[in-house]
Amino acid sequence: MAAMRVEANAKLNLTLDVLGRRPDGYHDMRMIMQSVELADLLDITRSGSGELRVSTNLHFLPNNAKNLAAQAALRWWEAQGNASQGLDITIDKHIPVCAGMAGGSSDAAAVLRALNELEGAGLSPAQLARIGERVGSDVPYCVTGGTALAEGRGEVLTPLPPLPPCWVVLCKPEFSISTPALFAKIDSVKLRCRPDTQGVIAALEEQDLVGVARRMYNVFEDALPERQRSRVNDIKNVLIQCGALGASMSGTGPTAFGLFDSEALAREAQERLTGVGGEVFLTRTV
Ligand code: ATP
Repeated sequence: MAAMRVEANAKLNLTLDVLGRRPDGYHDMRMIMQSVELADLLDITRSGSGELRVSTNLHFLPNNAKNLAAQAALRWWEAQGNASQGLDITIDKHIPVCAGMAGGSSDAAAVLRALNELEGAGLSPAQLARIGERVGSDVPYCVTGGTALAEGRGEVLTPLPPLPPCWVVLCKPEFSISTPALFAKIDSVKLRCRPDTQGVIAALEEQDLVGVARRMYNVFEDALPERQRSRVNDIKNVLIQCGALGASMSGTGPTAFGLFDSEALAREAQERLTGVGGEVFLTRTV
């Protein structure tokens, strides 16, 4: 096979907890991840040129080895003990950038899955995850996606029962968040509350969508600068007023999302949020 088209799904955090800073400078995390249908599309072609080329439809993203998709290809060849081969990666971005939705990590994971197929290497998802870990902490989760508990830096994964299918409305406000700055701040912030991770896992086991939605929480909301926190809260309030079963922020933000069991209510929320500013999407869980 010489070419493949692959989807790279976005993720949301149903919960996100930071347990503490580790001696190596990383933070120990505990989070429940969920894939959604919103996805980037990647065309991956073996070119025989000996060059690794990457391009995207967004002019501000790196079109070179700094792109996380290209980094994944380089790590792949490193792990295989090969010199880098000719490869063209074309990314059609749909996932908002710097949004807490793991867009870049998901592109990287999609490249690893595609190279595994194109080269007939037959690596297991766990082996692909180990390669992906060297690109970023969210890449191992993005290799398989679905509903999972992620611990450690995010690379220690436990599959969970799937979230009952539902509609998701998400809104990325017009500003972006600096992930390193927010991680630095979380150590000094007094957290108002912590997510009930065990409660969410129990609700997933019972396939209780309302029980999951009611317990969603992300500790990074407490670390946001005041104006940004208030904007995220405004979005969450609109989602709840429109009938969301629960609303939260994803990753280090600033995307806020709500879960709906009714398509009509989800469409109403999408309409209310469109026009207020930012990027608004209606999608479904995977
Ligand atoms: P996470 O949820 O994993 O923290 P994020 O959604 O906050 O990720 P991304 O959209 O993945 O953030 O992008 C983070 C940074 O990575 C940006 O500065 C962007 O320029 C860079 N980047 C490199 N490659 C890509 C890619 N393929 N897609 C998106 N961003 C990329």
